[in-house]
Amino acid sequence: MQCPKCNSGDAVKLSLVHAAGLSDIQTSSRGHAWALGTDGLLLGFGSSKAIGTSQTALSKQAAPPLKKRYRYVILAWLIGLAIGSWFILVIISPTTILESRAVSQMHWFAFVFSTVIALLLAVLWRFNHIILPRRRDCWNRSFMCCRCGEIFQLPSGQ
Ligand SMILES: [Zn+2]
Repeated sequence: MQCPKCNSGDAVKLSLVHAAGLSDIQTSSRGHAWALGTDGLLLGFGSSKAIGTSQTALSKQAAPPLKKRYRYVILAWLIGLAIGSWFILVIISPTTILESRAVSQMHWFAFVFSTVIALLLAVLWRFNHIILPRRRDCWNRSFMCCRCGEIFQLPSGQ
């Protein structure tokens, strides 16, 4: 494996760089303690224990492409529908609750909003099923030079 930048033969697979940089941490502390991690704020009283995963900067750089999550979009859809309905009922037509105008406005809003969410889900689906496998494949063929840090791919078929 020769680095195209510095011609060094010392290169490792990107997936190995990524795995080597992940390590489990287990810390415990006494008294009032707090820790700010990537997963959120941990608060503890008395004795607290934080278990998590720490990652080196190098490992983050070598991280594989990740799947896009659908749940945030669905959550946004539910919250958006609730807020939108409330907005139409309370702000726009406070005196015409359950009258045909407010109901048709709500239907219209729900239809447009759901269409936008469906399009967004389609974009995410396309990414997860078409673009992501290609990027994963590319990542699987990627190497990192141990001398200069250059990330390069093997041509496919090798
Ligand atoms: Zn190099």
